[in-house]
Amino acid sequence: MRIDILTLFPEMFHGVLEQSMLRLAQEKELVAYHLWNIRDFTLDKHNKVDDRPYGGGPGMVMTPEPVYRAIEAVEEGGAPTASRKVLLTPQGERFTQPMADTLAREDRVMLVCGHYEGFDERIRQGFDFQEISIGDYVLSGGEIPAMVVIDAIVRLVPGVLGDEDSPKNESFKDGLLEYPQYTKPREFRGMKVPDILVSGHHENIQRWRYEQAEEHTRSKRPDLFKNTPG
Ligand code: SAM
Repeated sequence: MRIDILTLFPEMFHGVLEQSMLRLAQEKELVAYHLWNIRDFTLDKHNKVDDRPYGGGPGMVMTPEPVYRAIEAVEEGGAPTASRKVLLTPQGERFTQPMADTLAREDRVMLVCGHYEGFDERIRQGFDFQEISIGDYVLSGGEIPAMVVIDAIVRLVPGVLGDEDSPKNESFKDGLLEYPQYTKPREFRGMKVPDILVSGHHENIQRWRYEQAEEHTRSKRPDLFKNTPG
């Protein structure tokens, strides 16, 4: 998978992409990250990327020219397949695990990050974007949302996680939160690991985990539980 990130602040990504699982994915050559500074695609000598909104109002709006030029340059200089283009915006569809599953199957994903008061509307209009929001709150830029999306999808790319089964049992799979997990020590400050987990009875453990997952979902996320199949 190739991930192109278009941003005014590429440096923000370095720490995140160069650690842990995201770094490993690149080292294993399963994923390649390409960072592009939208400012490099300006045509004026001041490298201006924003301007005041028509009609008045606070802040600055990202101008269309450099964003269009950046997207077009990345597509043309790139691979034979077109990218799935994602626009990070608080007005987009709320990001979910099924959306991550779908994006993880793409060969190329392009993430376009806004800043300031956001994008000139014609940026949205010019491309076939999937508009994604990471939640109902406003952040100062699309960089952190892009990192959230990258992390969620890269860990699903086959071969990235050590254990291929790991995503299969996690929260949000089949509309349930994950069952409670325990590790050593067997007793910690008076709290014991449930006997069933050390019984060695695989079937009973599976049943207990499913019941716990249901119970956790019902009490913590009744909205999810309503939509759980079966
Ligand atoms: N004025 C815009 C509005 O009210 O919809 C908000 C602009 S926000 C300050 C600047 C940029 O941050 C956006 O263009 C977007 O790229 C990003 N952003 C902010 N909150 C986000 C969220 N919840 N999900 C995804 N991107 C977000």
